[in-house]
Amino acid sequence: MKRIAITSARQSPIGSTFSYKQDFINESYVEAIFKAGALGYILPFTDPPNALDLLDGFDALLLPGGEDIDPLVYGAEETYSINRDAALDRLQIALVHAAMRLEIPILGICRGLQIINITLGGTLYQDIKREFSQKINHLRLDIPYLGAHTVKIESDSFLYRVFKREILDVNSVHHQGIKDLGYGLRATAISPDGLIEAVEGENMVGVQWHPEAQYSEMQDLFRLFIEEYIS
Ligand code: MN
Repeated sequence: MKRIAITSARQSPIGSTFSYKQDFINESYVEAIFKAGALGYILPFTDPPNALDLLDGFDALLLPGGEDIDPLVYGAEETYSINRDAALDRLQIALVHAAMRLEIPILGICRGLQIINITLGGTLYQDIKREFSQKINHLRLDIPYLGAHTVKIESDSFLYRVFKREILDVNSVHHQGIKDLGYGLRATAISPDGLIEAVEGENMVGVQWHPEAQYSEMQDLFRLFIEEYIS
């Protein structure tokens, strides 16, 4: 079976004697990958990041959802970013560089798309409502498993090959989004208010929504990513 590395998120321990941070991944990612015919493995958190070693032997890298990226990383003053973890940013950015060098395909989800964008020189809106537009509420924490808004998919894209249609209903549980697009990336899905909701580049795909949480409608995304990108 193909082996997909998933970078962990970190949290402070709840109800533990020890104060060490804990690495975790939501099982939904592993389950989505498993149903699509591959195995997901959690990557340990390391600081400094030994990204090339971490990716040794893996067929793909999945960058999952998570908290905000430290705006210093993309050269911006902090405005509305919350819950930053600069060490985790460093690790995930190093993993993108390493995956590119090793020609390992990358799938970025939510924060994962933002990490791809930042690594390639892009920037973010630190709060969509206050810095971009209030036309659509992108932070629908009340309906994480349901379509919250539509996106328009570019017809000559990987996403179009997956979904075979232009208009797709996606969930939306993010308060940040892409401002300037990173080098070599192409926006392949846009929400009706004009926000970039998906990017594609050489050997990489990123989506701003959470396909693993809308699995019955999104399973082909995982299946075709494995089929097309992992040879
Ligand atoms: Mn959205």
